[in-house]
Amino acid sequence: MPQQPDSIILNANVLTMDSAGPTGQAVAVAGDRILAVGSNDEIRSLAGPDTREIDGQGMTLLPGFIDSHIHLLSLARTTQELDCRPDRASSVAAIAHRVFEWARIVPPGEWVRCYGYDHLALDESRHPTRHDLDVISPRHPVRLDHRSGHAVVLNSLGLQLAGINADTPDPVEGVIERDESGEPTGVLLEMAGYLAQRVDWGRSRNKMAQGVTAANRLLLSYGITSLQDAGPENGPERWQAFRDLIDAETLQARVTMMAGAGRVHELSALPGDDWLRQGHAKIVLTMSTGALHPSLEEFSELAAQACQAGFPVAVHCVEEETVLAAAQVIAGLPKLSVPHRIEHCSECPPETLAAVQSSGAMVVTQPGLVHWNGPGYRKNVSADLQPHLYPIGALASAGIGVVFSSDSPVTNPNPWPAIYSAVTRKDHQSQEFPRDANKVGVADALRMYTLSGAESEGTQTEKGSIAPGKLADLVLVDADPLAIDPEGLKDIKAKMTMIGGKRVWEGR
Ligand SMILES: [Zn+2]
Repeated sequence: MPQQPDSIILNANVLTMDSAGPTGQAVAVAGDRILAVGSNDEIRSLAGPDTREIDGQGMTLLPGFIDSHIHLLSLARTTQELDCRPDRASSVAAIAHRVFEWARIVPPGEWVRCYGYDHLALDESRHPTRHDLDVISPRHPVRLDHRSGHAVVLNSLGLQLAGINADTPDPVEGVIERDESGEPTGVLLEMAGYLAQRVDWGRSRNKMAQGVTAANRLLLSYGITSLQDAGPENGPERWQAFRDLIDAETLQARVTMMAGAGRVHELSALPGDDWLRQGHAKIVLTMSTGALHPSLEEFSELAAQACQAGFPVAVHCVEEETVLAAAQVIAGLPKLSVPHRIEHCSECPPETLAAVQSSGAMVVTQPGLVHWNGPGYRKNVSADLQPHLYPIGALASAGIGVVFSSDSPVTNPNPWPAIYSAVTRKDHQSQEFPRDANKVGVADALRMYTLSGAESEGTQTEKGSIAPGKLADLVLVDADPLAIDPEGLKDIKAKMTMIGGKRVWEGR
C-alpha cells in the first residue's frame, strides 16, 4: 500500500526549483520528507483519514531558504546588544549618545557591548575612538563592533582590561591603531580572535541561550530552514555547542558548520546527520595590514592541508587582491566532491572574474550588502570599481555557480531585500548601481538562495528544491515573486515555515 501523507498543503502556487517539474498546486508530506508534488486533485487523492490539511490560500510555496554564510552565535549575541548600524546611528556623536543611554541599564564594571557601526557610512567617515566612548562612563568597559566583524573599538577601560597599551606590539594578524604619540586610539583591526583569547566578557550561558532563541525565531520568521555557519575559529567545542542547541530545540534550523582551517584535524572524524553536518574549511584572507594576510605561501599551505583532511575550502575575500589570490590558489587545489568556494567576492572587475571562472570555485555572496550598504559604497568606492561590486549577473553569465547568503549579523538575514537588490541592483534608498549586466532574474535569485545553497554544501539530493524524497523544508510566502512588480520583492513576508515536515513558525 502506498504511504499515506501526514500532511498535505493544498491551493498553493508551488515554485519547486526542480527542473523536472517547476510548478504545482499542492504538496504531500510524510514523516520528514516530501512525498509528492502535483495538482490539488492528485495530492488530495493520496490523503487518508489521519492526514492533516493545510490551506495554502493561493500563496506561494518555496523550498526553505538556505543561508549559506552566516555567523549564528554572533547573530544571537547581537539580539542582546545595542544596535549601532548606520540606519540607527548615522554619526559618531549619535553612536556615543546611544551607547550612553544603553549603559544606564548595564551594571558598572560589566561590558557594554554594541555592534553594527560602519565608519564609511558615518557623517564623519571615520571610526569612533576610545575618546568618543570614554565620555559615556569611566566605570563601564565598552566594546563597539564594526558591522564587518573585522574591526573593534574599545574605550580606555576596555583597552586596560584587554591589556593593550602603547607598549603592546601588533599581533601578526592584526593592527592596533595608534595616534602620533604611539598611544592606542581604541580602534583594533582583525583582532577579534586576539581579544577572544584574552578578555572575559562575562557572558552567561543563560544569556547565550536567550540570544539563540531570539536568532532562531528570526531565521524561522524569514523562512530560513538551513544555514551554513562560517565561523573562522569553529572547532569541536563549537560543534558540541550546536549539538546541544539543536538537541534542546533552541535552534531548529539545520546547520552545516564550517571548520576553522587550522582546526580541520580536530574535526575530521565527527559524525553528522540531517541536523548538524560538517562544511568547508574556512580561511580568512585580508589586506587589512596592507599586505595579503596570511601570506600567499601560508594560505596555499593551509588550503592544501584542508584538502588533504578531506575539506573543500571557503575563502573569505573582499578586496580585489584577495579574490585574485584565492582564485589562483583554488585553481591548483585537488577537486573534491563538494566545490571550493570564494566567500563575498565583493570587488570583482572582469580580469579578476576571469580568474574566478577558471578556478572552478562557487561564489557565495551577499546581495544584502548592496541593499543595506549601498549608500556607503556610492560614497566611498571609486566610480570605476562601483560597476564591479558584487557583480552577480556577470558571475552567473560566466557560468560560475553563485550562492546567496546574509553574512548575518553583517546584514539582516531577511532574504527578500537581498533578492530585491540582486534583481534591481538598487539599495535601500532606491539608488541604482551602474551596470545593468549585474542584475539577475527573479527565478535565478530564488535558486541562488535555495538549490544553489544546497549545491554549495553538497546536499542537493536532500534539500534546496521541492521534489519527492527530499526533506520537507518549506516556506509559504504572501506574494508570487515571479508575478509581482520587482519593487514589491523587498516586502514579501513568510506566512508559514516548515522544517522536516513540522510547522515551526506561523505568521499573522
Ligand atoms: Zn562572514
